[in-house]
Amino acid sequence: MKKGLLIIFSGPSGCGKGTVLKEILQDDSFYLSVSATTRPPRPTDIDGVDYRFLSIDDFQQRIDSNAMLEYAEFCGNLYGTPADMVDKMRAEGKNVILEIEVEGALQVMKKCPDAISIFLLPPSLSELERRLRNRGTESEEVIRKRIQRAEEEIKLAYHYRYLIVNQTVDTAVEDFRAIIRAESRTYHLNQEIIGEILSC
Ligand code: 5GP
Repeated sequence: MKKGLLIIFSGPSGCGKGTVLKEILQDDSFYLSVSATTRPPRPTDIDGVDYRFLSIDDFQQRIDSNAMLEYAEFCGNLYGTPADMVDKMRAEGKNVILEIEVEGALQVMKKCPDAISIFLLPPSLSELERRLRNRGTESEEVIRKRIQRAEEEIKLAYHYRYLIVNQTVDTAVEDFRAIIRAESRTYHLNQEIIGEILSC
């Protein structure tokens, strides 16, 4: 079986990553990695589905035992990708998506040079602020921290191979699918086709 792709998907908090992913994940060739975090759950969060919610000690223990593919601190909380499921799902042929912030993404790009990196941009910073406020899940202080962090992250978007501007969900999803379609057709991943064609 062909190993699945590894896809890094980043973008500032509130830019619409979740909405785009909801559409992408309708196709079951994709698997969204479940991150671990020390952030307190939001009312709608389900442990084991949205995140694995861990204590700081538990999280640190996983870092120490090398169980994390990457991890980073974001607005006062730790977030990380458990390595085991990523390897398992890719081996089963799934295209694994890591929805992670920039610092962790840079770690993955270094460790896994074959990873495809996509950065989702809001149409503007003011639109991002409006979306964050509309979400209504964070305090004013957290919103301000996240907007500041958004500016810092957007300045680092040049590290990514692909940029998508989230003008509408439909165009962003279409762009995402086009990228994956092209990436899954590279020579590197499809060399066996040539032999098959020449043998018939
Ligand atoms: P939120 O608290 O809004 O769920 O996530 C905050 C930020 O953490 C988002 O930018 C999200 O992409 C990022 N994030 C979620 N999971 C991970 C992870 O496993 N590793 C890293 N580095 N960032 C993550």
